[in-house]
Amino acid sequence: MLAIPMCSGRHSAVTIDEGYIKYVSRWTEGPAPDPRLTEGLETWRRPLYEAGLVGYYEDLKVGFGNLSVRANGPAFVITGTQTGHLETTSGIHYALVTKTDVTRNTVWSSGPVEASSEAMTHAAIYALSDAIQAVVHVHSRELWERYRNVLPTTDARVAYGTPAMAAEFTRLWSQHRFRNDGLAVMAGHEEGIVSIGTSLREAAGRVLALAGQSSGSTGSR
Ligand SMILES: [Zn+2]
Repeated sequence: MLAIPMCSGRHSAVTIDEGYIKYVSRWTEGPAPDPRLTEGLETWRRPLYEAGLVGYYEDLKVGFGNLSVRANGPAFVITGTQTGHLETTSGIHYALVTKTDVTRNTVWSSGPVEASSEAMTHAAIYALSDAIQAVVHVHSRELWERYRNVLPTTDARVAYGTPAMAAEFTRLWSQHRFRNDGLAVMAGHEEGIVSIGTSLREAAGRVLALAGQSSGSTGSR
């Protein structure tokens, strides 16, 4: 697990490493992705943001949480890097990931902003099945602590955004529970939860429902 270097002095136990792109990013600046896809992402990002599942760590000065929807084949549209602080988003805050190479740890994307630092993890999940049409990644201390090793959970030694995380999701996919319920906890990525679905509605709804069940104070729209 890597700590954020800039925070190592202030947060001795910080292991939240959101926001750092660990793959080789081949980004081409270009127009906003297809609005039919970004509008769905904008719609479903909103309740996640309101529930505090997507947002910004003020002390760490880094955003957290990201969501994506499949475009064609392996391509998908994902929230751009460093957009977690935004209350609302528009097309200019999204990137189209056109290709990924897990073994070379490389992500190709285009759009007004570079793809989220977690694009590699999203790509690995889409590669599991054509049925997966949306991926939502949120942060929640409460859900992470409550459901780690209760829901399907990735190995604690594996950090986000790495080829090893791709292998972890392949392992989880072999379990009926992840296939059926679409929820997983990333033990090696503090506060990290992943939800998948056949639509954004399903993927976002699953994690919102989990949050609603847990605290009763967060949205479940
Ligand atoms: Zn994360």
